[in-house]
Amino acid sequence: MSLLSFLLKIVRHGLLPFSYNLTIVQTKPICAAMILVAVGIAHAQPNTYELNDCHFHLTNYIQEGTPIRDFLNIMGTRVGRVALFGIPLQQQWSSRVSGDNAPTYYLNTDAPLYYYSFTDAFIAMQYKSLNKEQQARFDPMITGFNPSDMYAADHIRRVLKTFPGVFSGIGEFSIHKEFVSSKISGEVASLQDPALDRVLNFAGEVGLVTLLHNDMDQPFAKDGAEPVFLTQMKALLKRHPATTIIWAHTGLGRVIHPVHDHLGILDAILKDPAFSHVYFDISWDEVAKYLVTTPVTTKALADLINRYPTRFLFGTDEVAPKDQASYLKVFDQYAPLWQLLSPEASANVRKNNYERLFDAARLNTRAWEQANK
Ligand SMILES: [Zn+2]
Repeated sequence: MSLLSFLLKIVRHGLLPFSYNLTIVQTKPICAAMILVAVGIAHAQPNTYELNDCHFHLTNYIQEGTPIRDFLNIMGTRVGRVALFGIPLQQQWSSRVSGDNAPTYYLNTDAPLYYYSFTDAFIAMQYKSLNKEQQARFDPMITGFNPSDMYAADHIRRVLKTFPGVFSGIGEFSIHKEFVSSKISGEVASLQDPALDRVLNFAGEVGLVTLLHNDMDQPFAKDGAEPVFLTQMKALLKRHPATTIIWAHTGLGRVIHPVHDHLGILDAILKDPAFSHVYFDISWDEVAKYLVTTPVTTKALADLINRYPTRFLFGTDEVAPKDQASYLKVFDQYAPLWQLLSPEASANVRKNNYERLFDAARLNTRAWEQANK
């Protein structure tokens, strides 16, 4: 198949968004001019959605969740596109530990979590149950791998080959996460594990967007100390310049406080060309509570984003929501931030950065699948 016919096929099959912006698409194997031809063809009605969501869990820690058609209704007319994934970990229900009390969250029990690879097949089948126009609103992500296993990259390759035309990223997966990392059966994940390097190398080779959760610091850290995982994380990011990496929650978490000039740390990363492939999402209500605590913190965050408007993405981090109000609670929590951003930065964080990164990932991943049939 010629390159042009391949691109046209992508367009015809609705793999490009039906309301595509004429932004610059970063792709490796395909000539930019030809993509613009394809993009021009795909360009249809203007996009009136308020936001895209780069961080969404359709299912929870016991692999239950919102049926995808219900979720489309919840997205409604406010949310355009969503990066779609489950949760790679299953909370074990141990009768010995909790009797008939079935846990639904990792904090409900001392029983361990384990990697649940079937999540990827489940997400793929949910996506495949939709028509093309509905599918165009989702960017499914592969999460069901153990990042401390040298075979993890092979799992990702196998999922792409089993479900071609579906996935455009990996994640959210976690390396260091409060209370979670130490609960997982088997070896504890590490930023220095060659298995993780294999995963990120493979994501770069294919063009998959990578959404990585890694707490920058340990829970309840003391103020003034260097965040314990920062040096290792920066080294990891530097080792993978060809991989598009979104650092989830800017490295914060429920009890991972921004104790040590958090925005200054982000600023240093953003201004360093060695990290030009690194982005941040501002998802999770537990993180929003820190970032927009006071008018002062909100203003500082807005100033940072206004200086680097192409490097931040909005995400909800909601898990299996029941209605639109709970789904978009985090978006509304950020209302003071939206007001302080320039119109350009606001549009970028809410929508354009998502579209630029995931459109490129769709094209690159489809091209990799074609070449590796
Ligand atoms: Zn997370």
